[in-house]
Amino acid sequence: MSASPAAAPVPLRAGFIGLGAMGGPMAGHLTARGLLAVAGNRSPEKARAFVAARAGASLKAAASFDDYAACDVVALCVSADADVLENVDGLAAVLSPGAIVIDHSTVAVETAREAARRLAARGIGFLDAPVSGGVEGARNGRLSVMVGGDEAMLERARPVLEAYGARIALMGPTGAGQATKAVNQILVAGINEAVCEGLAFAEKLGLDPERLLPTLMAGAASNWFLDKRGASMLRNEFTPGFKCAHMAKDLRIVQAMAERAGIRHPVIDRALADYAELEARGEGELDTSALIRLKRQSPP
Ligand code: NAP
Repeated sequence: MSASPAAAPVPLRAGFIGLGAMGGPMAGHLTARGLLAVAGNRSPEKARAFVAARAGASLKAAASFDDYAACDVVALCVSADADVLENVDGLAAVLSPGAIVIDHSTVAVETAREAARRLAARGIGFLDAPVSGGVEGARNGRLSVMVGGDEAMLERARPVLEAYGARIALMGPTGAGQATKAVNQILVAGINEAVCEGLAFAEKLGLDPERLLPTLMAGAASNWFLDKRGASMLRNEFTPGFKCAHMAKDLRIVQAMAERAGIRHPVIDRALADYAELEARGEGELDTSALIRLKRQSPP
């Protein structure tokens, strides 16, 4: 008698909320893998356009949280802490026990822990999983994903994360993903300061960008921001990318963490003051490379 064939694994049914600069392309990768069932966004027309652009895929634009009820995994990539908790509350009311919410937004460690607590009360899992790699990383599916939470839960959610993650690292318990992202943002903020200051200086010296940028990229000053934003900032193009307002939000979180940790943090303070100034000038929706505009100004 021959053994009965093993049942094929049932694919995950995923939802995605927050179809912005990052979430749109990330959700696109899930659709390409046949995993995405429902897509939603605060402005519903963005979700309707996302679905309309993928005619033929078995995919629905969410009209309410009820549309996520049958999902095994729902990923979020929304703006800030209150947005994450609002969606967590909506999902907690509809998802089945055993489902998992993954948050890719950059928020406070405490917000991640609060989200996990609210979902656990309904038997629903949570992974904080902020990402790095920019819109380019989201578009080409090469993000670095920093995960906090339970290992077995991560293994269940892995097919979703693999759709857009080049590296998926479990950093520790809930909140450890956001803690890692806080470290990441100090490095990013400091690099942005140095690159924008250096390129504003290069302009004053009359150096030719066509020769300057590849020469810098070939040496020890090479970095992601110079490579991806150097030429565009010198052309005065500041389409995000990564918005100044999001960077200021991240640095407020990181500054509070650094205060509690008791380290000296002049890099965080300088960068936060600069992005807050850009926000106050009405430039919060520009890419962070708009920082070069401040660096070009003569000191007061
Ligand atoms: P974004 O372009 O501003 O997109 C945010 C999206 O989330 C928008 O489509 C927005 O809808 C939606 N949204 C906001 N609040 C919502 C809510 N309460 N319910 C449902 N949808 C909501 O921002 P992003 O650049 O994609 O960044 C998203 C998150 O990832 C942020 O936390 C950011 O710090 C982080 N991040 C960004 C980058 C980057 O390079 N851009 C890299 C790593 C991490 P509307 O259309 O109504 O505005």
